Amino acid sequence: MTDRAFAFRVTHRDGLARRGELSTAHGSVQTPAFMPVGTRGAVKAITQRDLLDLGAEIILGNTYHLYLRPGDGLIARAGGLHRFIGWDRPILTDSGGYQIFSLAAMRHIRDEGAEFRSHLDGSLHLLTPERASDIQTQLGSDIAMVLDHCLASASDEAASRDAMERSAAWAARARARFLDPGRSPGAGLDVIVSNPGQAQFGIVQGGVHPALRTESVERTVAIGFDGYAIGGLSVGEPVEVMYEVIGHTAPLLPEDCPRYLMGTGMPDDLIESVARGVDLFDCVLPTRNARNGQLLTSRGPLAIKNARYAEDLSPPDPDCGCYTCRHFSRAYLRHLYLSGEMTAATLNTLHNLYFYLDTMRRIREAIVFGSFERLRQEFRQTFSRRPQH
Ligand SMILES: [Zn+2]
Repeated sequence: MTDRAFAFRVTHRDGLARRGELSTAHGSVQTPAFMPVGTRGAVKAITQRDLLDLGAEIILGNTYHLYLRPGDGLIARAGGLHRFIGWDRPILTDSGGYQIFSLAAMRHIRDEGAEFRSHLDGSLHLLTPERASDIQTQLGSDIAMVLDHCLASASDEAASRDAMERSAAWAARARARFLDPGRSPGAGLDVIVSNPGQAQFGIVQGGVHPALRTESVERTVAIGFDGYAIGGLSVGEPVEVMYEVIGHTAPLLPEDCPRYLMGTGMPDDLIESVARGVDLFDCVLPTRNARNGQLLTSRGPLAIKNARYAEDLSPPDPDCGCYTCRHFSRAYLRHLYLSGEMTAATLNTLHNLYFYLDTMRRIREAIVFGSFERLRQEFRQTFSRRPQH
């Protein structure tokens, strides 16, 4: 552990599922936990007050976006990301790697780092493992991620090995930079340390190839991080393959460190991953789908624009206790969506995030009471990935 502010404790186990508590410089997080994605310092369509009402204990910010606009220097001078965005609970920032692979107008990966052109103005940037660490030092998140070499799709073994090897080499450099004494406040490196209690997680790569995953775990754990992420999944591989890779990888990671599955997924993915030993999640799915008119309910996805809801006065999800479901009908939400009202995005997002966070609450309770497997079976029976009819 790099700082006393950061700690992780597993309090209960039920099979491979773990109930725990993550302590950070900005308070604690009950795990397993889902992190709403606040890409550019805002969870789209809702306010920080809404996040508090929803019971969100940690959110995610995207380094790529914040680095390009408004810039990590400006955020550091404003007192760090927490103060800048008015959120004093924990924040995790990613390293920018995934966005370079999915968003940048151009990218060129070499051992030194990832060179890319901004999708905003075409300007040229070089993100090295050291620079990605420094940017997050300036942002002052509670958990920083190392820069990794992401592959945008399920790839063959040679490409996966190449990305895994480069990720391991970059992880060692990122860790060295993070632990550099010059990083301490007021010394050495020309960066502002916005949060001295920041922790840093490594990322396991290796695609869908178990032997590469094993090697990646060994090499990443040998460097020694405060927590470990499983990266490179949810990139188009079949869901059963994703579960296999998680089931293979998560138990290899240190028992006493948090395990974070990056960028996943559907509500049933959360339960299935907790069953395999994962503690932390993030995904744009609940917020992005909300803006596209898809409500994720206890029965499955519901497309609110569907004509069959035109006069349906029932709540979106009769089993949900969120603000949206307690006050509004499917007919009204459909009307808002079809009219292009901004409130549609807000109300849909409130519901989807509530559903995700409430699912995590139920998971945590079930682990404590030893009934996680029963919850998992119930969820399998009621939740369907196919849209409701
Ligand atoms: Zn609801």
